[in-house]
Amino acid sequence: MDIKQKYGLRDIINAAGTFTPIGVSRSSPTIAKATAEALKDHFIMEELQQAASKAVARWSGSEAGAVTHCTAASITLSVAASMAGSTPEAVAALPDTSGMPNRVVLPAGHEVNYGQPITQAVRLSGAQPILAGTDEECSLADLEPELSCPGTACLLLVSSRLTRGLAVDMKAAVGAAHKAGIPAIIDAAAQDMRLADLLATGADLVLISAHKYLTSPTAGLVVGEAGLVNAVRAHEKGIGRGMKASKEAICGVLAAIEERKGLDLEAWWCEQNRKVTWLKKRLNPLPGLSVTSIPDPAGMPLSRLRLRVTEQDAGMDAATLSARMKDGSPSIWVIDRTSGQGELYLELVQLSDDELALISDVMTGLLQPS
Ligand SMILES: *Cc1c(COP(=O)(O)O)cnc(C)c1O
Repeated sequence: MDIKQKYGLRDIINAAGTFTPIGVSRSSPTIAKATAEALKDHFIMEELQQAASKAVARWSGSEAGAVTHCTAASITLSVAASMAGSTPEAVAALPDTSGMPNRVVLPAGHEVNYGQPITQAVRLSGAQPILAGTDEECSLADLEPELSCPGTACLLLVSSRLTRGLAVDMKAAVGAAHKAGIPAIIDAAAQDMRLADLLATGADLVLISAHKYLTSPTAGLVVGEAGLVNAVRAHEKGIGRGMKASKEAICGVLAAIEERKGLDLEAWWCEQNRKVTWLKKRLNPLPGLSVTSIPDPAGMPLSRLRLRVTEQDAGMDAATLSARMKDGSPSIWVIDRTSGQGELYLELVQLSDDELALISDVMTGLLQPS
């Protein structure tokens, strides 16, 4: 690609999933074209957002949708909407929450760090995050007293493989929030294929990153109840000014939703399995590797390869293997959060067959030096 040559940037192979430090995802030519076309023109932004809202609603079966800059922005703005509604005085007052409910309850195991602590995205609005339960478990009995505490604005849940502890019963948690008279928001940034399931919990808002598996330009989707979605939009005139979606992002999102509606999910799933099976067969015989296919723990319809690295046989530990792949040309990125426990994960969704073959060759070269 010209830009890489011109600026001396390295080629990269992404086996790390929808990861922000490496540009998250690659868009199809159709989505790229819609985005580029938008840059050349003016739009009445309110009309464009309304068109996106209708498209999101038709696609997801929700009442409405809004586009923000990204999910980190959507978290801050959804919390702002639950505290301040869309009253202009309250919108202008944030992050000063005087006179507003400002407690945001989340299960302790949902206090994730996706490159930023989620509690910071909450606090940016002026809200105060309250953790319920422990890292190991958050039951309804842990949640209920926090949700009914005076001054509570909303419940925030996270649907992600980054959460810790026993799975929280999302539907029951949403029910408990509603019983306490407050809205429930689910951060499902990398879970767009589960949007219908997550809306079916009764959640008032579900937040999706459109640049992850939907492969649009950087954008956040706020999906759900019309009143609260509109309140999120109202904060564009307040703390959300720097979190607004661009015309090109919204046009890219519209193209991405069209593309997703045409996707044969069954065929997609088979294709992902084919790639996982192919690479597993090649990597498993390598010295010091034990390779297993692991379904997404948060229910996305995809599996990742888990590589257990035995240092004695591999000649290096998991962290070193990951670092050597990253240092190569092209630079190969895998999920190495658990390298301390001797494990690496590979996500193959965005990879072509040629790229899979290259990963196989590079790892063979590193582990079986001739
Ligand atoms: C990626 C991610 C985010 C942040 O999404 P952006 O769109 O990059 O701001 C938030 N929460 C979770 C669980 C994520 O995976």
